[in-house]
Amino acid sequence: PLEAAGRGGKGKKVFVLGGDGFCGWPTAVHLSNAGHDVVIIDNLSRRKIDLELGCESLTPISSPEVRVAAWNELSGRNMRFEYMDIAKEYDRFLQMIKEEKPDTMVHFAEQRAAPYSMKSGATKRYTVENNVGASHNAVCAIVESGLDIHLVHLGTMGVYGYGNSGGKIPEGYIDVTLPGGRERNILHPAYPGSVYHATKCLDALLFQFYAKNDQLRITDLHQGIVWGTNTPLTSKDERLCNRFDYDGEYGTVLNRFLMQAACGIPLTVYGTGGQTRAFIHITDTCKCIELAVNNPPVGGERVKILNQVAQTARVRDLAQLIGSMTGAKVQLTANPRAEDAENELEVSNDQFKEMGLDPILLDSAAGLLTEVQEIATKYQHRCDRSKVVSKSFWNKGTAKAAEGKT
Ligand code: NAD
Repeated sequence: PLEAAGRGGKGKKVFVLGGDGFCGWPTAVHLSNAGHDVVIIDNLSRRKIDLELGCESLTPISSPEVRVAAWNELSGRNMRFEYMDIAKEYDRFLQMIKEEKPDTMVHFAEQRAAPYSMKSGATKRYTVENNVGASHNAVCAIVESGLDIHLVHLGTMGVYGYGNSGGKIPEGYIDVTLPGGRERNILHPAYPGSVYHATKCLDALLFQFYAKNDQLRITDLHQGIVWGTNTPLTSKDERLCNRFDYDGEYGTVLNRFLMQAACGIPLTVYGTGGQTRAFIHITDTCKCIELAVNNPPVGGERVKILNQVAQTARVRDLAQLIGSMTGAKVQLTANPRAEDAENELEVSNDQFKEMGLDPILLDSAAGLLTEVQEIATKYQHRCDRSKVVSKSFWNKGTAKAAEGKT
């Protein structure tokens, strides 16, 4: 068995909404290992979207029942899984909250791919209904339960857009002088670049309202792009293996490059590759969420917003770094997204640093190479090369130019 849980009987009861997903599963395991009593709630919509898109995780992932049983067997813990759609099954969700009285709910349960959200009218509507429905049901159910539950939500750095305005992105609020001279402390203005990002902006307004109106304790984590696959805990047994999305819709940029390098496919860089983005390793995602769970805002405070980011990097520099380590070629392709070709991005992550986060950085070449060798190479036979390029275009001008190339 793994080491006994950290806090003995002092752990919290934590619902992990969306705990079968890429970030949710390793976080559920991490929190369980730290002594919390974890219940995963998930409707398996991500696995169903894999069927719809005709692809699957590069890594073979066990069913939720098998991975939860494997974790309990290894750790002696008692994690549970409940199959439930929190956007559609409000009454059941509320009943479960009233019966189980969680201290904390960590909310990952949203459709998280910008390209998928922009594929069609149906996926736009699904993304809005699912994401806004799930987030609103979570806060509404907390109020209706009468329980003082801390909600930890996964937001994204992308809510502000990636313009070229310059200046460090603060953690949530800014002081402004409105026309007429009124001084206000407001949420940083949102500027979404996809329907998916727009749902995260709508979430932020709902949270602002519920914190003000009902004194809900909410932490909104503005996360960077997550890379890596496993954490030290999910590496312990193949049945615990985390998912690895590499397809054009769900594969995030750095993991896609790692997989392309392992399979001998040129690294596809959109546009000039001048986009600067924020990154964090999956192991640090888990650590940040544990810190957030253990440090809730006190009642009546505004929503606590933290930037969950290790560092920023330019996409073409990442491609070059991986290319130089692996010999993979870099291929520029038309950008399917409507975004600035080049942007700067400077992000404050002072709050997590003050809480002791010492994140894994991209230039720790060992980490990157381990990823390429152990995961992407090991499972390259499972890669369907026809799924690597994104089929979702929402930049009409560049879509035309791309027709001949993809
Ligand atoms: P994921 O799709 O792998 O996981 C989301 C999980 O939520 C899935 O298991 C899915 O089945 C479940 N789910 C979705 N709707 C649900 C519903 N209505 N009821 C119950 N379960 C539902 O995504 P992920 O990469 O783990 O992302 C988790 C969260 O973190 C998302 O909110 C995402 O926006 C945020 N985030 C992720 C990244 C990243 O790089 N992966 C970056 C920034 C923010």
